[in-house]
Amino acid sequence: MRLKDKVAIITGAGRGIGQATAIKFTREGAKVVVCDIRQDWIDETVKLCQEAGGTAMGQIADVRDMKSLEALVNATVGKWGRIDCLVNNAGIVADAQLKNMTEDQFDRVIEINLKGVYNCTRAVVNQMIAQQSGVILNSSSIVGLYGNFGQTNYAASKFAVIGMVKTWARELGRKGIRANAVCPGFISTPILGSIPDKVIHALEERVPMGRLGKPEEIANTFAFLASDEASYITGAVLEVSGGLTL
Ligand code: NAP
Repeated sequence: MRLKDKVAIITGAGRGIGQATAIKFTREGAKVVVCDIRQDWIDETVKLCQEAGGTAMGQIADVRDMKSLEALVNATVGKWGRIDCLVNNAGIVADAQLKNMTEDQFDRVIEINLKGVYNCTRAVVNQMIAQQSGVILNSSSIVGLYGNFGQTNYAASKFAVIGMVKTWARELGRKGIRANAVCPGFISTPILGSIPDKVIHALEERVPMGRLGKPEEIANTFAFLASDEASYITGAVLEVSGGLTL
């Protein structure tokens, strides 16, 4: 077990990549705090983690709300005494071409995908500094490397995540804390739900591996980066996309 007894908080873990990551981490022996904004989805993920033989607890927390994140940190440290890993996974899309994008669409995405990542990391960092250890993992995207049609807001947020990761790797390396970003390509989760089948098929055609990624394939990447096997990896930006950008 690569994460035995490590304590991990995973945001947006009610479904999709976050849920797969929670299940993977518990299978690898971690104690996982499943964080999301919907109690029914949290309960579902906790149940799946327990059915996989793992240890998990659920906590409602909105990455926009610092008070709920302080409560999350207190509940985690109160129950398990430490925080070894934060997975900043919660994220949304609100797509429109620049000429049609509303201020609300721009602000909503920045608030969750960028400020939310800052908020969560700010909430855990002092605990990690006190421990002199910790791992901060972050969902960026290939859109955070190359941009994408109709995603001014999302691209801005995902580029920014990479900027923060590199900054945190510099600031926190001597304190025993690593920070890395993962850039998924197109992964089969509810976030792709609004994309028509025809477009999904066209996307698959563009991937050298000929298919979308599975949430478990991103979860496996997070598990490796959270483990001691990745002990000298920090400030890294790892693309997991089936070769999409080649
Ligand atoms: P998903 O299935 O939509 O899951 C995201 C989760 O985050 C949902 O449960 C969502 O709840 C939750 N969430 C939304 N707002 C939140 C908030 N304010 N506080 C806490 N949780 C919140 O998405 P996914 O595909 O698994 O994506 C996970 C991450 O990977 C995101 O950061 C995404 O940008 C990134 N990513 C995904 C892909 C892909 O192809 N799937 C590619 C590149 C990067 P609600 O549904 O209620 O909003």
